[in-house]
Amino acid sequence: MDNVIIIGSGPASYTAALYTARASLQPLMLEGEPSQEILPGGQLMTTTEIENFPGFPEGITGPDLMDLLRKQAGRFGTRFLYRTATGADFSSRPFVVHAGTDVMQAKSIIIATGAAARYLGLESERKYFNHGVSACATCDGALPRFRNKPLAVVGGGDTAMEEALFLAGFASKIHVVHRRDAFRASRFMANRVMKHEKIVVEWNSVVDEILGNDTDGVTGVRLTDVVTGKKREIAVTGCFMAIGHKPNSELFAGAIDTDKEGYILTKPNSTRTNVPGVFAAGDVQDRTYRQAVTAAGSGCMAALDCIRWLEAEGLI
Ligand code: NDP
Repeated sequence: MDNVIIIGSGPASYTAALYTARASLQPLMLEGEPSQEILPGGQLMTTTEIENFPGFPEGITGPDLMDLLRKQAGRFGTRFLYRTATGADFSSRPFVVHAGTDVMQAKSIIIATGAAARYLGLESERKYFNHGVSACATCDGALPRFRNKPLAVVGGGDTAMEEALFLAGFASKIHVVHRRDAFRASRFMANRVMKHEKIVVEWNSVVDEILGNDTDGVTGVRLTDVVTGKKREIAVTGCFMAIGHKPNSELFAGAIDTDKEGYILTKPNSTRTNVPGVFAAGDVQDRTYRQAVTAAGSGCMAALDCIRWLEAEGLI
């Protein structure tokens, strides 16, 4: 039986692994099996330059940062498995985690499964995923299909503003499609978008269809005006979704308390969940900050909470 299984990979889990490994717990980390849905290392693996992680005055790429965090956790004895947790039973101890047909037992658990981009849920959106549909401008914006072409960005929050401003550096024109008549984004970001000569805002509009064909991928989007009900089409070669994120907590439904959006609930000022011995860190429990450095900080908190709990229970 393991002292602690850390589920997920990213700044929170690598930091939790570093701290629990340095406490000689020999943590087992389930990093996830690489697939279209799962990227070991988490969302930062799709980020180019990170300029706001302390300690890197020149910036660092997401994959390089994850590689360094992983090496540092490994140096103290973390055991890594490219396996995806597929089931969990926290109703009795030892806790049980399933990874396919494998069944693992642990005295304690740290959940750090992160969050994933939300999509509209259109069939056409799925069809043209990676053929013009993306949820990451920094990953895909520089691709030839988007250069000097008109693009759409869906959303009205800070992410949509950031994506639109970033893409404006490559594209000929950006249509920001927002379902209301006011942005949710901070005033500073919204003003930059509204003043930008290449950006137009399609207010009170929703994308109800992504248009395209098998050869070209995305060629346009159809919009519905939510006030008048009128439909219209705009020609774009790409549609970037920036409508928020959802926590990766489905696996723990019923096993752990979450809020109505699926964020794992933790006790104030701690990473303890409603199940003693199960802790949560990073974006899966953070609807507010969602930064690499805050995720890393909460990974440290989860490790310290976990070590103290194991000691108090006489389990180490
Ligand atoms: P938000 O939840 O803030 O915004 C999501 C946006 O998408 C909203 O405008 C929302 O519309 C819209 N939306 C949601 N669902 C749909 C849908 N089904 N169809 C159409 N539109 C939809 O998410 P963000 O990712 O933008 O930001 C998350 C957090 O991260 C925020 O706290 C933000 O401030 C922060 N952040 C900060 C940055 C910075 O400071 N540089 C950069 C990026 C993010 P509506 O407004 O009508 O609800």
